[in-house]
Amino acid sequence: MKNDTVRGALVAAVHRREDFPKRLLPVVAFVGRSNVGKSSLLNRILGTKSARVGKTPGKTRGIYFYETDEGHWVADLPGAGFARASRAEKESWGVLADRLFGSGGVRLAVHLVDSAVPGAAADREIAEYLESLDVPLLTVATKWDRLKAAEKTRTRRRLEELHGEVWPVSAKTGEGIESLRREVRRRIREEEVQGT
Ligand code: GDP
Repeated sequence: MKNDTVRGALVAAVHRREDFPKRLLPVVAFVGRSNVGKSSLLNRILGTKSARVGKTPGKTRGIYFYETDEGHWVADLPGAGFARASRAEKESWGVLADRLFGSGGVRLAVHLVDSAVPGAAADREIAEYLESLDVPLLTVATKWDRLKAAEKTRTRRRLEELHGEVWPVSAKTGEGIESLRREVRRRIREEEVQGT
């Protein structure tokens, strides 16, 4: 495998449509509402402190692209606090997201949902948006360590009713991270085979 990449290095920070890199490596796009635990998870996956944890919730930011050492980039989309966001915030989120997903470079969209709040309105909106795209989708349940053992089965069932199969993870304890990594790799390979 090509190895002149630095895992977790920031490749591009995109705040306007015009700023998108001319050429994209295959992209895995991480999407979730503000505070869902996206930065914490990305830091675990990238093995760095690239993504900033605990930013001001709902603040519209850009899309950040990070290198991995696995031949694809990770795209960190701005937190989608749809329910509480202003019209202007929703529009600017939509402009960037549409540009990213319209690029043809996204092999997989990862939707993060908070395991403590199944069925949040913002998550239904995000799921609807992602399902409207022609992009494979993987749903991840974050902060799994916060659930008591007895709640896990019920919560998983509820989440799977809403989203189909989910991958529970904890950025805090590391639970589920390796199997998520494996699944992401498997899905990307599957796409490559289908695309050739
Ligand atoms: P983001 O806004 O989606 O990027 O979310 P952050 O990664 O900034 O996390 C939001 C809050 O949830 C922070 O206070 C984190 O410490 C906390 N958090 C994130 N992931 C986990 C997790 O796996 N377990 C627990 N217990 N807390 C988490």
